[in-house]
Amino acid sequence: MQAVSDAVTERAGVQLFVKRDDLLHPTVSGNKWRKLKYLLQSLDPADSPRLLTFGGAHSNHLYALAAAGAALQVPTVGIVRGEEYAHPARETSTLRFCREQGMELHFVSREHYRQRHDPAYLQQLQSTFRATLVVPEGGTTSLALPGVRELVQETEAQLGYRPIYYAVAAGTGGTAAGILSAGAQVLAFSALKGGHFLEKEIEELLPPETCVGTLQLFTEYHQGGYGRHSPQLLAFIQKFEQEHGILLEQVYTGKLFFGLYDLLQKGYFPAGSTLVAVHTGGLQGRLPGL
Ligand SMILES: *Cc1c(COP(=O)(O)O)cnc(C)c1O
Repeated sequence: MQAVSDAVTERAGVQLFVKRDDLLHPTVSGNKWRKLKYLLQSLDPADSPRLLTFGGAHSNHLYALAAAGAALQVPTVGIVRGEEYAHPARETSTLRFCREQGMELHFVSREHYRQRHDPAYLQQLQSTFRATLVVPEGGTTSLALPGVRELVQETEAQLGYRPIYYAVAAGTGGTAAGILSAGAQVLAFSALKGGHFLEKEIEELLPPETCVGTLQLFTEYHQGGYGRHSPQLLAFIQKFEQEHGILLEQVYTGKLFFGLYDLLQKGYFPAGSTLVAVHTGGLQGRLPGL
């Protein structure tokens, strides 16, 4: 955990901490480590597990699962969105890493990829690739929640109290759901355009009849959509990195801090508030030369 103080936080009278989950592991970074922990622990080597999952050509989740699979000697299969990435000339650094870790990559059209939640499609993929388990996109399953809760426990053990808010970037909403399941208040910043759907997805992930925190979802900081960025976002990231020595990336954590700083500047938080921004990692996807 790192305290972050600058002209913006001082003017707002707010205490900001960054939970440095980007430092958890060199390749299974941030929230992917949290989300995969109990899922991977649940595997029994006697069953010869073989995992199949989904992701885009820059996916932090594919990257993390490929690395974890290699470390645990569990074979992994990645279903990649976009057939064009099958061409060696289009191979991204993320996909190259996955391949080098031994992940078997299969490229599908966007149309096929869209069926990734369809049980019949999953069954077909599972038998085609002899997978024992399908891990949904982003590693978001109910087993992700206890792993994410541990970051809340660590934070509060270190601070000695519960902060008013946890701020986190959201893709599938699994991380936000995990923090909510610890009973904390969450500010979630959608990395995707039209992120309103996340509210329902997060709700569906939460175990029923438990005392969960409340969610505030911000959907206007996507910068044009998932994987998109703007000159303002890149300028913000550069300034933040220079001031605080904490690297961000343009897909998730940059948008989180961009949004959070916008709220701070608008006087959204009462003076005296304590905020913890969760650095969910993902630096493998940082724009080269950012
Ligand atoms: C995957 C990812 C997210 C999104 O997490 P969800 O649990 O899917 O909402 C946020 N930040 C980083 C760095 C990620 O890699």
